Amino acid sequence: DDRSADSLLEALDPEQREVALALRGPVYVLAGAGTGKTRAITHRIAYGVASGVYKPTEVLAVTFTSRAAGEMRGRLRALGADGVQARTFHAAALRQLGYFWPRLYGHALPELIASKLPLVAEAARRCRVQPDSALLRDLAGEIEWAKVSNVLPDDYPRRAGSAGRGLDAVDPATIAHVMAAYEEVKRDRERMDMEDILLCTASMLADHQDVAAQVRRQYRWLVVDEYQDVNPLQATLLDQWLGGRDDVCVVGDPQQTIYSFAGASPSHLTDFPRRHPGAKRIELVRNYRSTPQVVAAANAVFTRSRRDGVVLRAQRDAGAEVSYTQFADEVAEAEQVAASILALRERGTALRDVAILFRTNAQSEAYEEALAARNLAYVVRGVERFFDRPEVRQAVTLLRGQARGGVPAEDGLVAEVRAVLGSAGYTERAPSSGGAQRDRWESLHALVSMATDLASERPDAGLAELVEDLERRAQHAHAPLADGVTLATLHSAKGLEWSVVFLVGAQEGTIPITYAHGDAAIEEERRLFYVGVTRARDRLEVSWAQARNPGGRASRRPTRFLDGLRPRDAAEERGPGQRRVRRERTLARCRSCDTVLSTGAERKLGRCLDCPSTYDETLYESLRQWRSEQASEQRVPAYCVFTDATLT
Ligand code: ATP
Ligand code: MG
Repeated sequence: DDRSADSLLEALDPEQREVALALRGPVYVLAGAGTGKTRAITHRIAYGVASGVYKPTEVLAVTFTSRAAGEMRGRLRALGADGVQARTFHAAALRQLGYFWPRLYGHALPELIASKLPLVAEAARRCRVQPDSALLRDLAGEIEWAKVSNVLPDDYPRRAGSAGRGLDAVDPATIAHVMAAYEEVKRDRERMDMEDILLCTASMLADHQDVAAQVRRQYRWLVVDEYQDVNPLQATLLDQWLGGRDDVCVVGDPQQTIYSFAGASPSHLTDFPRRHPGAKRIELVRNYRSTPQVVAAANAVFTRSRRDGVVLRAQRDAGAEVSYTQFADEVAEAEQVAASILALRERGTALRDVAILFRTNAQSEAYEEALAARNLAYVVRGVERFFDRPEVRQAVTLLRGQARGGVPAEDGLVAEVRAVLGSAGYTERAPSSGGAQRDRWESLHALVSMATDLASERPDAGLAELVEDLERRAQHAHAPLADGVTLATLHSAKGLEWSVVFLVGAQEGTIPITYAHGDAAIEEERRLFYVGVTRARDRLEVSWAQARNPGGRASRRPTRFLDGLRPRDAAEERGPGQRRVRRERTLARCRSCDTVLSTGAERKLGRCLDCPSTYDETLYESLRQWRSEQASEQRVPAYCVFTDATLT
């Protein structure tokens, strides 16, 4: 009803409300971290549903990580918009492909590979290239880039050249050969990779008008979160889903583009109005997520390279200072972080409100150990989840295929499931050997147990119901765990937030990572660091280690991205094996809108630059222009000489 629709709008600020009210037609939102982009689009969907404009099942919301999709489903449910599809590009495409493929092509969808590496190795062998593991990874990276950039093998040398890509160890023509061989190997083995999911869906929609019509009827309203990280292939698929229609809303933050090495480009966001004439543009500037201290740190990540990027405006009250701590080695760092978390928990912080974020998966282990030693529960992000394991995917695909066959489960569901899984190598008894084989059996056995549970709850349930039940579970598997510290890579943390964030391993060589060469790669690392900083709501603890191992040579330096964050004249407290640097800062706020002031000019004025109504429009514009000129000449004003008199 209207009352509840209106109450949805009350939870938004004026610009966010504008997003929510723009239910039809193309809309794009450009905004910084924590400004409520995701909040605005979830409320928009809920408002569309509550006001009767959207049928929930006709909305498709797409985002980038499955955790983010899970969170979005949670938020939508809480806002009364049950039944809306919120998925990753891959999950949405796989669902459509899984449904139409067997009907179009008469056989099941090829099995999805868990990793490209074994196939790339085989392809390289066929091309007489002998890659070590680093080269194998690089080749896989080039293959992925070419596929998401809509670049065919023949075209690779030219396109890679103009994109400034390529590998030192192998020439472009050879990479192109490996690329073509990789496709052959994949075809021979009847497998598909992640890019194929999107490629096949896009070409299925392009080639089959009836299928396209059906999919477009189903998804009348499209919303894309984190649009800055869309790659050309995803953009193509989105165009196919739209089929010339304009009912799409995209939101993103160019400063959080962290997949450009893999072919993503914020140009899709900035080009949006060109491809969708008449698109409504909305900007959000107020950061609601973080304390002013965290916001100031986030803004400082870009001081050196920023030209005209967004400056985040803090809204919340002052909180804890951001801490910057140097440790002798990674073990000491992990021990101290775990000890701090233990202390936080004793003071009442729930573990689910705490995250440890790092650049690479390999950094996770030290923290897992240190947390486990203190009996602190944790969840590792970015690693395989149950429903993503290859054997589980394969089994669910088999069960789905069988369920379509429509033979009723006369002998009972659990009899039947065992038989189907038997064809995938499942045995009644656990294998005596350990390792991978045992893990595989455990996964399949878990599926049998789920069938047993369902059969006891609903004795008449058949395979179709089981598959439905499994799909529902797979969706819910992403819901935040009951309680546990989150361990996550910076890539998998995007879009998410925690009360307390430990941003660890903040040393040169880790972030920026050693293999980031060239300005573009370094800037991408900087944005990644920015993503990390902006995940914290109340507390941010940044740390780095001088050596990898205890007793090792203390050769590492703190990351250059901290240069603008740590004051040079800060007092330093020394502790055992650590040096603590603190930043003290008094916070001045805008007289008219209470935003925390971020530059010296503003502090002198006592007003922020985002309050045009308080000044004469032209003066405001000239001040803004002056500031951007200063910034581009690298003469960023520390304390400049504006006074109220200059402005009025
Ligand atoms: P990111 O760039 O990290 O994806 P975002 O722009 O999507 O961030 P959200 O996650 O939607 O930001 O919001 C950040 C936090 O601020 C959330 O906790 C959200 O509930 C809160 N928030 C957003 N808008 C408002 C508002 N108008 N009033 C109060 N809180 C808000
Ligand atoms: Mg978001």
